[in-house]
Amino acid sequence: MDITAINPATGQPVKIYREMTPGETAAVVAQAHEAWKSWRATSFSERSALMKKAAAILRNRKDELARLMATEMGKPLKQGVAEAEKCAWVCDYYADNAASILQPQAVKTEANRSYVAFEPLGVVLAVMPWNFPLWQVYRFAAPALMAGNAGVLKHASNVPGSALAIEEMFAQAGFPTNIFRTLLIGSGQVRSVIEHPLVRAVTLTGSTPAGRSVASQAGQVLKKTVLELGGSDAYVVLEDADLEHAAQTCVASRLINAGQSCIAAKRFIAVAPIARAFTERFVALMKARKVGDPFAEGTDVGPLARRDLRDALHKQVVASVERGAKLLLGGETPPGEGAYYPPTVLAQVKPGMPAFDEELFGPAAAIIEAKDEADAIRLANATQFGLGAAVFTQDIARGERVARQLEAGAAHVNSLVASDPRLPFGGVKESGYGRELGTFGIKEFVNVKSVYIKDGPHAVSGVME
Ligand code: NAP
Repeated sequence: MDITAINPATGQPVKIYREMTPGETAAVVAQAHEAWKSWRATSFSERSALMKKAAAILRNRKDELARLMATEMGKPLKQGVAEAEKCAWVCDYYADNAASILQPQAVKTEANRSYVAFEPLGVVLAVMPWNFPLWQVYRFAAPALMAGNAGVLKHASNVPGSALAIEEMFAQAGFPTNIFRTLLIGSGQVRSVIEHPLVRAVTLTGSTPAGRSVASQAGQVLKKTVLELGGSDAYVVLEDADLEHAAQTCVASRLINAGQSCIAAKRFIAVAPIARAFTERFVALMKARKVGDPFAEGTDVGPLARRDLRDALHKQVVASVERGAKLLLGGETPPGEGAYYPPTVLAQVKPGMPAFDEELFGPAAAIIEAKDEADAIRLANATQFGLGAAVFTQDIARGERVARQLEAGAAHVNSLVASDPRLPFGGVKESGYGRELGTFGIKEFVNVKSVYIKDGPHAVSGVME
């Protein structure tokens, strides 16, 4: 089957790509493995020099990359430029820090010398989503390649041009041929790539059903997985919050990338004394954001990435209203071929409504009123997801205490949850497992090897396992 990029602002096809055959796919994996055999022996300084070039290329080509993302998935240009710059940061960060993070760690035992070494695994398959076509890939690839692995990318089928651009940029930076390859394949071929004997591990960022499927396939062949899945992040607004700051941050988090971010805030839990004032300000700010052509200057919110995703979001909004949610803003699909959806606010949202129980992957917000702090924490945790969360209060100690009770991979006080190359990123519950980024992320795809060196004969101990 062909892989077709469609411009979501117009509904028009951009370019059609031929899908690789299973034979071609298997050959690419084998080539990546061959390249890895020498790459694994390179020094950190050799890898670092190439990764620095990769960062420079991203910075040089950021405008072109932003246009590509705007065309393939509707991201406004200024957000695309920021994404390319963030990818350059992650490349620089691991170029500068991988060697120290992966330094062997000495451990005192009865041996003359014993230590833990972090050795690369080999070819890692990355199954990636379209929402941040560059960032999702670089945040895997920069640490994984610096650790000495090879990467093969199966990107989302609506961003094939971005997938090929990433492969080309690693080649342009001078990385060995085949150390990072793009597989132009649909999700139907993923199982055979996972089962390929030369694929050593799999990382997937995407929906919970895709994660479940990939993890079970990898489990059958005993391959490690890291999963970054959906989220329904709660932002808790307490009565002593700076309401203007809280409302501004909540709206920014809800609308970035047209709301298509796993760590976008989706549920806004306001305690009773300030619920009304928060809601009024929140709605006013949501209304003020400019929806439009991703290529136009000043656009805050572009189209959603695909028509089917827009229609699925609208169904969730309608079903929530049918179950008692109050529509305060938006909630209507505009005419035309573009996959646009207006900033939408639902109030009086409760468990049992899609806006509470499911992930709203678009610019639709759910406002939930809580009785007090304890009720707000209970509601924040009453979800199958656990990716990010935030709390707003002017009492920092209180904020920290609440943050520590939120079941999520990241909890912020008075600030927007965003990934950062220096900090681990990932979730609990159905938001996935394992971590990307930080010292924990780079160690997901290494062999944590115990090395034990003794000179000469020694007594064999009684217990061996
Ligand atoms: P999706 O269907 O899960 O797609 C993500 C990636 O997985 C794509 O490359 C897709 O390939 C592939 N895929 C889908 N089903 C698969 C399967 N059964 N086996 C193997 N690969 C499979 O995601 P979506 O529906 O397009 O995007 C929306 C969802 O993704 C939301 O729920 C959102 O939370 C989640 N998401 C999460 C994150 C995160 O960082 N945690 C980031 C972005 C999106 P094809 O494109 O070829 O189908």
